[in-house]
Amino acid sequence: MEKHMIRYAKSQGFAIPQMNINGLIWIEGVLQAAENMQSPIIIGTTDKNIAYLGGYKFILQTIKNKITAMGITVPVSIHLDHGLTVEGCKQAVDAGYDSVMFDGSKLPIEENIRQTKEVVEYAHAHGVIVEGEVGAVGGVEDGLVGQVKYADIDECVALVQQTHLDTLAPALGSVHGKYKGEPNLGFAEMEAIGSKVDVPLVLHGASGIPNADLQRAIQLGHAKINFNTEINISWSNQLRKTLNESTELFNPQEILKPSIQAIITIAEKIIQTCGSENKNTAFIKNR
Ligand SMILES: [Zn+2]
Repeated sequence: MEKHMIRYAKSQGFAIPQMNINGLIWIEGVLQAAENMQSPIIIGTTDKNIAYLGGYKFILQTIKNKITAMGITVPVSIHLDHGLTVEGCKQAVDAGYDSVMFDGSKLPIEENIRQTKEVVEYAHAHGVIVEGEVGAVGGVEDGLVGQVKYADIDECVALVQQTHLDTLAPALGSVHGKYKGEPNLGFAEMEAIGSKVDVPLVLHGASGIPNADLQRAIQLGHAKINFNTEINISWSNQLRKTLNESTELFNPQEILKPSIQAIITIAEKIIQTCGSENKNTAFIKNR
């Protein structure tokens, strides 16, 4: 379902937002925002955080149970973000994920291709789609540290053609976590890669990229955009505010409620930025 959803988004010139979750209130917040905005959504769980989230099976089932309990009607895809190992990706497939990313971007390209291909063969046999990465997204996020390295066009083409992956994340200047200074996306490289590969592109580290740049990235073939940092900044700002303003408060629900609303509000803004509002792609499931 997710593959068709992302391909449809590409054909219609919008992007499906991926929002990463860090626990129950993130799940509730992003699902509520997607339902409010009638937007398809991809819920991301980053591999580095899987133990914290309770393991592949636990977090997947928790998300699915929440979808049912909240009566969510929009399409929701559950994605493993930055899969660290082939084995971990296979476990996520077995657990029932809709899609997995294998991040072989730190490996030499031949090894990235070999390992990505192994993930693709296993995932496709189970109806699960795969995202691959070339180059390096910069910054620090969830313990992932990296210097920006622009994706090489020939390596992108080789990874797509030799592995038959479904979506490609070419690192082109984006950064995980907070940007230091202005983001500097390589639009010329983006255009060149978009013209040479047929698969939808994925943009990582979108928090902090100006809206106009995101729109241009969508026009140049990005149909999935990943958000994490700005959601966590909104959540933590609100939580600090609540605790500072009400120093006597100790009821967990009262403390957390405004911070859940902060997640909903920023998630709705992200959906608007991606252009996925009222793009309920539920009909694609039946194709
Ligand atoms: Zn990323």
